[in-house]
Amino acid sequence: MKVTVFGTGYVGLVSGTCLAEMGHEVICVDVDQDKIDGLNAGRIPIYEPGLEPMVVRNHRLGTLQFTTDAESAVQAGEVIFIAVGTPPDEDGSADLQYVLAVARTIGQHMQSHKTVVDKSTVPVGTADKVRAAITQELAARDAQIGFDVVSNPEFLKEGAAIEDFMKPDRIVVGVDSKAAGEVMRNLYAPFARTKDKLIVMDIRSAELTKYAANALLATKISFMNEIANLAERVGADVEAVRRGIGSDPRIGYQFIFPGCGYGGSCFPKDVQALERTARANAYEARILSAVEATNAEQKKVLFSKLSGHFGGDLAGKRIAVWGLSFKPNTDDMREAPSRTLMEAVWQAGGSVQAFDPEAMEETRRIYGQRDDLTLCDSAIEALTDADALVICTEWSQFRTANFKQLKSHLKGRVVVDGRNLWVPEELAREGFYYYAIGRPVVE
Ligand code: NAD
Repeated sequence: MKVTVFGTGYVGLVSGTCLAEMGHEVICVDVDQDKIDGLNAGRIPIYEPGLEPMVVRNHRLGTLQFTTDAESAVQAGEVIFIAVGTPPDEDGSADLQYVLAVARTIGQHMQSHKTVVDKSTVPVGTADKVRAAITQELAARDAQIGFDVVSNPEFLKEGAAIEDFMKPDRIVVGVDSKAAGEVMRNLYAPFARTKDKLIVMDIRSAELTKYAANALLATKISFMNEIANLAERVGADVEAVRRGIGSDPRIGYQFIFPGCGYGGSCFPKDVQALERTARANAYEARILSAVEATNAEQKKVLFSKLSGHFGGDLAGKRIAVWGLSFKPNTDDMREAPSRTLMEAVWQAGGSVQAFDPEAMEETRRIYGQRDDLTLCDSAIEALTDADALVICTEWSQFRTANFKQLKSHLKGRVVVDGRNLWVPEELAREGFYYYAIGRPVVE
């Protein structure tokens, strides 16, 4: 099928590439000329395992094209995906300006029937707005061309995006016509060879499904963080509690890891947006407000443990930071707990020596050149002469750290572990003060 994808961010680029890999002819459109020039030259703007070779291969074959020419891209696609950003508005609700701009562009240029698929995460009712925007543009040029609007929220995880898209747990499709359902079934047929993954429903339910999924995952995290904070106060070990509750199949082990708060481009904004949707519908979503507030506090926990150790005085202290991305296997630093920590350290007069396997470039882009930030080439280099180490992201290479090496490079004997990677007794044996999340400090 001929597919056009608007937006070449995490979702648009991965979706377009995987659809091309499965045999569709794909054109990806973006308004960012540099991004498109880069992609045409084989430069991938994000780090995502497995993405680069797939982009290069399909681009070379001609089944994956990149352009800023929206008009010809609209005309070429039978199916047109909208995969642009939906950042939070001033009041936390989702800002639909990019989605609706694409809808208008489609309405202006379409010459034949289109199936317009909304893949961006958008509030319930957005499909109606997309339909109205297209209809208005068609009316403005007196054109009578049929189209369908479909909701097809994306569930890929950054860091495992290709794997998730190629082998999805489910594909949620919201439609209001049989024909649109058939188009989507054909489009996704190559991804569902062993079993039918399509869950077809009405459009509003599909829109709500995405928010409900992210809000529930965020709730699990904030819930566990609350239990961790309580465990610290009552002298329990949250890791034992986690194993204890995860063994109940109704609870399960997944997504109940305590830590230093969730970040990224999705959970924070989606929880907020869903809460605003509730409010706009005269309903107070108490759980969602609590999830958000708990997370905001949790992101401060690393700094308060660190500062607590030094009696509130971090002036002149050098802090090694391991892990900057909001989670492993990505360079995405949007809303990352590392940022809350580093900014608090700087505010307190300390400096940071940081290392991340993938997010160094992104850190440089965000913070630029500053005297109190040294970006290091390795985890060991970041430790050199530092007064303390703070672990913000659970990259697997940090799990297997060599404590002797840690001892010989780190000047101070303080580790704050925001991801509970290590065994407190081992660190204590090596003479470290080891502050984890929800675990007793072993002397
Ligand atoms: P992103 O910010 O990485 O990329 C958005 C892209 O859209 C940018 O390259 C931007 O230049 C482009 N764009 C903006 N206006 C455009 C226009 N008029 N025409 C063409 N391109 C335009 O965003 P993302 O992370 O890919 O997220 C996109 C959507 O998918 C959001 O709604 C997000 O909530 C949702 N989502 C994201 C993830 C994720 O893990 N990142 C997962 C599931 C769903």
